[in-house]
Amino acid sequence: MNNAVLEIKRLYKSFGKLKVLNDINLNVKKGEVVAVIGPSGSGKSTLLRCIKGLERYEKGEIYFNGCKLMEKDRNFRKLQQDIGLVFQHFNLFPHMTALQNVMEGLVTVKRMDKKDAEKIALSLLKKVGLEEKKDEYPSRLSGGQKQRVAIARALAMGPKLMLFDEPTSALDPELVGEVLNVIRDLAGEGMTMIIVTHEMGFAKEIADSIVFMDKGVILEQGKVEEIFKNPRHERTKMFLEKII
Ligand code: ADP
Ligand code: MG
Repeated sequence: MNNAVLEIKRLYKSFGKLKVLNDINLNVKKGEVVAVIGPSGSGKSTLLRCIKGLERYEKGEIYFNGCKLMEKDRNFRKLQQDIGLVFQHFNLFPHMTALQNVMEGLVTVKRMDKKDAEKIALSLLKKVGLEEKKDEYPSRLSGGQKQRVAIARALAMGPKLMLFDEPTSALDPELVGEVLNVIRDLAGEGMTMIIVTHEMGFAKEIADSIVFMDKGVILEQGKVEEIFKNPRHERTKMFLEKII
C-alpha cells in the first residue's frame, strides 16, 4: 500500500476565536525529512503538538503508520510513545542527571528494569557525544549539551517519527553545529523527521521537502530546490529573502 508514516487530513485547530491551523494536509513518508519553515505565529509549534497528542483539535484526522490517532482509543498512548518531540527549550528534568533524564521514560513509561534502561541510556549519551557528562545536572550543561541530552531522551523511547521544534533557536551560534550534527546523523540513519527550523542552510542540506506555513495554512510544499529556487507565492519569496 502506501509507506506514509504520517498522514494529516484536513486538520483544523483554534484557540478560542483564533484560528491557528486551517485545513492542514501533510504526508510524510518513511525515512523522509521534512523541514517546516514560516513566520512566527504561523502555527508550526501547534502543528507538532497536535501530532504528538499534546493539543486537541476540532476537525481532521492524523494517521500514524496507518492508525488513526484518537485520544479515546486504547492504543493512543502506545502510538504516541513512538513519536519523539524535541522542544526549543530542552525541557529536561532539572533535578535529574543527564543519565537519569534519558532513563526516565524507559523506567516509568516502558517499565524497564533500571539496569537495562541505564545501558540503553548510556549508549544514547555516547551517540550524542555526551557519555562523559552522564552524571551532570542540566544546570551544569551548556545549551547545546542540554539539547543533545533532550534528543537522547527522545531517542530512548525508540521513536518511529521525530519532531523537532526549532531545536537550535535558543542556542548561542557556536553551539548550533553540535546539535545539527546529531540531527544530521539521524537523517543519515533513515529516521523519519519533521523539523521546524530557521536554519535555511541546514534545511536545504538535509530536508527532502520543505513546507512553508503562513497564518495557519500550508502555503507551499515541495522539493527543497523548487521552494528555494522558485517559490510560487510572494509571501514565501519575501520570507526567504528576509531570512537568508
Ligand atoms: P509558531 O510556532 O509558528 O510560532 P504557534 O503554533 O506557537 O506558532 O502559535 C500559533 C498561534 O497560536 C499564535 O498566534 C499563538 O499566539 C497562538 N497560540 C499558541 N499556543 C496557544 C495557547 N496555548 N493558547 C492560546 N493561543 C495560543
Ligand atoms: Mg513555534
